[in-house]
Amino acid sequence: LADLGSRLRGALSSVESGSDDEINQMIKDICSALLEADVNIKLVVRLRDNIKNKIKSEITAHDNTMNKRKKLQKIIYDELCGLVDSHEEPPKPKKLSAQKKSASTQTVTKTINGKKVKVKQNSGPSNISSYVIMFVGLQGSGKTTSCTKLAVYYKKRGYKVGLVCADTFRAGAFDQLKQNAIKASIPYYGSYLEQDPVKIAHEGVEKFKDEKFDIIIVDTSGRHRQEQQLFDEMVQISEMVTPDQTIMVMDGSIGQAAESQAKAFKDSANFGSIILTKMDGHAKGGGAISAVAATKTPIIFMGTGEHINDFEPFKPSTFISKLLGIGDLQGLIEQVQSLNLQNDENHKKTLENIKEGKFTLRDFQNQLNNFMKMGPLTNIASMIPGMSNIMSQVGEEETSEKIKNMIFIMDSMTTEELESDGRLFVDQPSRIIRVAKGSGCPAVEIEMVLQQHRMMSTMAKSAAAANPDGVPGGAGG
Ligand code: GDP
Ligand code: MG
Repeated sequence: LADLGSRLRGALSSVESGSDDEINQMIKDICSALLEADVNIKLVVRLRDNIKNKIKSEITAHDNTMNKRKKLQKIIYDELCGLVDSHEEPPKPKKLSAQKKSASTQTVTKTINGKKVKVKQNSGPSNISSYVIMFVGLQGSGKTTSCTKLAVYYKKRGYKVGLVCADTFRAGAFDQLKQNAIKASIPYYGSYLEQDPVKIAHEGVEKFKDEKFDIIIVDTSGRHRQEQQLFDEMVQISEMVTPDQTIMVMDGSIGQAAESQAKAFKDSANFGSIILTKMDGHAKGGGAISAVAATKTPIIFMGTGEHINDFEPFKPSTFISKLLGIGDLQGLIEQVQSLNLQNDENHKKTLENIKEGKFTLRDFQNQLNNFMKMGPLTNIASMIPGMSNIMSQVGEEETSEKIKNMIFIMDSMTTEELESDGRLFVDQPSRIIRVAKGSGCPAVEIEMVLQQHRMMSTMAKSAAAANPDGVPGGAGG
């Protein structure tokens, strides 16, 4: 299934002349790729009919091969987007501070596991208490990581968010959540001693409700000695904390298993949305389509890495672009434009320098800075066809750390050094030692910066020689 994407790409690119035969074969290939990826047959049939109808009405005899292929690509792209688009936004809970003071809660008694416990419930409309989100999903799918990511997402939007660790099964589960929460400055609740996850969930939620938290996120365990036990536990926690939203976390690369897994969880935990994780890996989550299709539940976010900020609202268009490998060029263009480099004095200066065949260390630093401004590198890379594979081999975090480090090293250089071509470091190696001391980096890293700069400088020179009238898109004059 990892190759649903490559099969779709293959089908699209197999159209050469644009003959009816070719187009029919392409539609067949697309449908069988989707069917084998466990996409519901009814959905595939509907998709096929839609594609055929659109081709009939949009492609005419006047279209040349190039136009035909472009239109085909657009039709397929739109229809695939339709498959994963639920047209739903991530839930926007109301902030408690914005709600009426008159709202009241009442205490009711519930029986869980034969024990009687008191639970606070809203007596008014259901939106006047803390918004409780419960996470479910298999162990290793990324629940604990995604809990914190979601908490940070809402915290950035001004919500008061608390995390509850109701995973007593996995050793170290509480520590993991705690460390994540501390890193992100999110209040958390959990216990090293208590073995009953239902009890912890209950206590944590009650505590944060008392403290008027806007959102309470409950992390649960993912596996048990017996599967039935896991589902029972999930149901008990759910009955106890009565979540406003249950989110299923699914590993984006699981493929064939996606449908049955999603169905099993849907039956017992009736989740209302899905978070798809590990979308940074090689498998581009064809399973997601099946999960959405099997449960008719929207994907609301996707995880794109292990870091807290590697998290974004799910956009069908971006997802399908990746699957088809056509690159989200529009997104890339928008991102570059948002940098507004044309008005950036540093950028102008760099372009002028390059035009003259010059490329100083400062120019190099400017370039790296611009690159970093564009946001997470894998996001950028994934917008450019063919780039994402290269990026995933190097590793996002590593690359961006390296670049940040290079910028940092150059901050320890003098103006004279920055505005030079770097030769003075060769003539006076003591300068390297000084920069190393100043930046706290080993000398070998300074040498690497200089070496990288030399490479780019050589490229700039040859570009200027080949293009004496100026640099494409450069600030003229
Ligand atoms: P849980 O057992 O469901 O709570 O899963 P965890 O949150 O502990 O995650 C399992 C592993 O997957 C950890 O090593 C995480 O760092 C990793 N992980 C989670 N989300 C992502 C993601 O979006 N991308 C990548 N690359 N790794 C992730
Ligand atoms: Mg966990």
